[in-house]
Amino acid sequence: MAARSMEELVSLCKRRGFIFPGSELYGGLQGTYDYGPLGVELKNNLKAAWWRSNVYERDDIEGLDAAILTHRLVLRHSGHESTFSDPMVDCRNCKSRWRADHIAGRCPRCGSSDLTEPRPFNLMFKTTVGPVADEESFAYLRPETAQGIFINFKNVLDATSRRLPFGIAQIGKAFRNEITPRNFIFRVRELEQMEIEFFVLPGEDEVWHRRWVGERLRWWQAQGLAADNLVAQPQSTADLAHYSKATVDLLYRFPHGLEELEGIANRTDFDLGSHSRFQAELSLTARVLPNEDSTARLAVQDLASGQWAVPFVIEPSAGVDRGVLALLTEAYAQEQLPGGQQRTVLRLRPHLAPIKLAVIPLARNRPELVDRARAVCADLRALGLGRVQLEDGGNIGKAYRRHDEIGTPYCVTIDFDTLGIGDQPELKDTVTVRDRDTMEQVRIPLSELASWLPGRFAAPRLPDPEQVSG
Ligand code: ATP
Repeated sequence: MAARSMEELVSLCKRRGFIFPGSELYGGLQGTYDYGPLGVELKNNLKAAWWRSNVYERDDIEGLDAAILTHRLVLRHSGHESTFSDPMVDCRNCKSRWRADHIAGRCPRCGSSDLTEPRPFNLMFKTTVGPVADEESFAYLRPETAQGIFINFKNVLDATSRRLPFGIAQIGKAFRNEITPRNFIFRVRELEQMEIEFFVLPGEDEVWHRRWVGERLRWWQAQGLAADNLVAQPQSTADLAHYSKATVDLLYRFPHGLEELEGIANRTDFDLGSHSRFQAELSLTARVLPNEDSTARLAVQDLASGQWAVPFVIEPSAGVDRGVLALLTEAYAQEQLPGGQQRTVLRLRPHLAPIKLAVIPLARNRPELVDRARAVCADLRALGLGRVQLEDGGNIGKAYRRHDEIGTPYCVTIDFDTLGIGDQPELKDTVTVRDRDTMEQVRIPLSELASWLPGRFAAPRLPDPEQVSG
C-alpha cells in the first residue's frame, strides 16, 4: 500500500506542488525545503491536529510561541554549547565530510577507508544581533523549541496559576547545521518541531513517561499511520542526549528505513535545575541585577509543606517535517483499476487533506454550469472545512485523477441535472459526490451537503489505550 521509494514521493511532491528544494532557482541550499501550495496545507493541518489534541482537548496543557533567536547563555546553561554536537569525519581521499555514526568505516562516496578520527561538530547556527558584529553580539538560532519553554516556565506558571502536573506545548522552527542532510525532508537544517514539556513531581516521572509514549503512539495512529509501521524503541544508554535519563523513540517505516519520527524523553530536572542554578549564581555575584532568588528559581512550592521542588520534565518531541513525510509515505498508493488503468491515490485522512473538496462543473465551456459551481463553492467554503477548490480547468476524468493524486477526499460535480435542464428534472439541485477511496458516486441534494460533509472531516478521536500495542 505505502510508498515503496523516496523517489516516488519526491516526484509527486515536486509535480503537484507539495515540496520544492529550497533556493532551487540558484542551485539549491542543501538541507532546506520550501512547502508549496499543497504542502503548506498538509503541514498546517498536521500542526492543527496536534494542537487540537494537546491544547484544546486536554485540561493540563498551555500553549506558547517563544522567540527563535536565543540568548547564548540560555544555550550555554542548557548544555548545548558544550554537548550538542555530532561526530564528524573527513575522507582524506575525496575530501567529503560525514557523520561518523552514519557510516560503516568507509567513505560512502569513494569507498576509501582513509578517514580522519571523529571529532565533535557543534550543530548550532550562530547569527549576530544588532549593527555591531563582535564576539559579544551573537545569538543562536534555537536548535530545539524546548529551551523557550523552560525559560518561560515561571512566566507561564505565574500567569496561569497552574499546579503540577501540567505541560506547555509549542510548535515552531528549529535549526541544526546537520553534517549530512539527506533523505528528502527527513534530515534538514531548518526543521519544525511540535514539542510538549510536561512538568511533573519528581518521582512521578517514570509513570508519566510511559503514559506519554502510549499517548503519542495512539495519536500518530489517529493521523492514519498503521500500527505495523510504528515501533516504540527505548534508546540505549550510550545514545541518550546529555539531558535525558531515558528516551523512547517512536520509529516509523519511512521509504529509507525504520527511523525516528518522534522522541519522548525523560529530561528529569536537568534544564530547569541548570537555569535555576545559574540564576542563583547571578544573584550571589550580583553581576546583573538579580531577580529575587525565589522568583528566579524555576521551581514550584508545595503549599502544605512550603518545600520548593524543581519539576521533572517529560518531553514528547515530534518533527513536523518527518510527520509530513510519514503521512505521505503511508497515504501513497498505486492502484490497478478494473479496466487495466492505473491510478495514484493519496489516502490521507480527510482532516489532513490539503484540499477538502473540489467542485467541478461537468463542462467548462458552459457558463451556467461554471457559475453554479462557483456559487456552490462559496457555500461550501462557508462551512469552514478548509480549502475548497473550483476545478474548471480540464475534463472531468483528469480532474478526478489529479484530486486522487493530491488526496482530495471528495469531488462535487455540477451537471445539467443540477441546473434542472438535464434528462432527469427530479434531480434539480442535487450534485454528484465522488469518494476518493472507493471511487463511488452518490447523488445528494445540495441542501443536505452542509450536514453530510462536516462529520466526514472531523479529526478522529484517539483509540482506547488498550487497543494499542507497543
Ligand atoms: P536524529 O537522531 O535523527 O538526529 P535527534 O534524536 O537528534 O534526531 P531530537 O533532538 O530528539 O532528534 O529531536 C526531536 C525530533 O525533531 C526528532 O524526533 C525529529 O522528528 C525532529 N528532528 C530532529 N532533527 C531533525 C532534522 N535534522 N530534520 C528534521 N527533523 C528533525
